[in-house]
Amino acid sequence: MIALLSEAELDAMDLSRDLGIPEKEVYGHLSHIARTVSVRGRRLVIRPARCLKCGYVFEDRKRFTRPGRCPCCRGTRLERPAYSIR
Ligand SMILES: [Zn+2]
Repeated sequence: MIALLSEAELDAMDLSRDLGIPEKEVYGHLSHIARTVSVRGRRLVIRPARCLKCGYVFEDRKRFTRPGRCPCCRGTRLERPAYSIR
């Protein structure tokens, strides 16, 4: 997963498909990877989820999982957060 994220920005669904593991397991791996890469002086960068209806960006969200609902317009069509390693 570290190799994949070093080459491209991917979301949990991409990672689930590429690694052949359930999407919910991806989130557990991500928190582990965040610690692993920081030891090596790199960083797991999260491009925050965004509401497709009003454009609200979930900037302050610290968790890796996808939010369920937009606090701004209550819309549920949300873009997944995407991850990369820099
Ligand atoms: Zn919204």
